Amino acid sequence: MECEARTFAEVRGEFSRPPSTALMVGSYLHSAFESDSAFTEFLEQNHDSIYGSRGVKYKDYEKADDMIETIKNDEFCMFALQGEKEVIYTGELFGVEWKIKVDNINHDRGFFSDLKSTQELRKRYWSEKYNTWVSFVQAFDYVLQMWVYREIIFQNTGRYYDPYIVAVTKESPPDKAVLHFDSGRFDFEKEYVQSMLPSIIDAKLGRKNAHRCDKCEFCRGTKKLSGTFEIEYLLD
Ligand SMILES: [Zn+2]
Repeated sequence: MECEARTFAEVRGEFSRPPSTALMVGSYLHSAFESDSAFTEFLEQNHDSIYGSRGVKYKDYEKADDMIETIKNDEFCMFALQGEKEVIYTGELFGVEWKIKVDNINHDRGFFSDLKSTQELRKRYWSEKYNTWVSFVQAFDYVLQMWVYREIIFQNTGRYYDPYIVAVTKESPPDKAVLHFDSGRFDFEKEYVQSMLPSIIDAKLGRKNAHRCDKCEFCRGTKKLSGTFEIEYLLD
């Protein structure tokens, strides 16, 4: 949704986003809850990004350690993260194949949960999609993600699982919450995917030009100007 041009360039292997610290810290956080061996392996494989010259962790990873401790010290958070980790399912929605990786799924209790880090729980974001102010959950399209996960898990198990987000903030000390969803939210996401998907597939198959966001690294790096625009559009 952000940028078809960049996404399909990535799919074709013509462009790769430089690994950002935010993405790395996210993987660090996830591996800590996956298993001790996954965490140890992550530390070994990314040693030079995590540790500075004196063998001390960089600030971002010290903060991540705070976030990990915050969750581990909260019984309710840990309860919401009980289950099988990093489970992959495939399925079909609107004639297209989908593949998902669930952070945590609990078959006994019929729920799945996703670990998300965010700046602060109550920060507001303006959303073009919802045409209003929204929380980080809608801003990063996590409701859509939860809807897709729920459907694909249903196709594999014959049962609708309850989705939860275990959120932890980058504040000091970190804040935390376990979030659930009114089921009414999912109808909107279903219609949204259904209405947006055809043009995405057309772009993927080369039947139409992929939409350029004109803002991301890929678009900035490949941009060719052909005219002027009025200053109003700077605020688009
Ligand atoms: Zn772009």
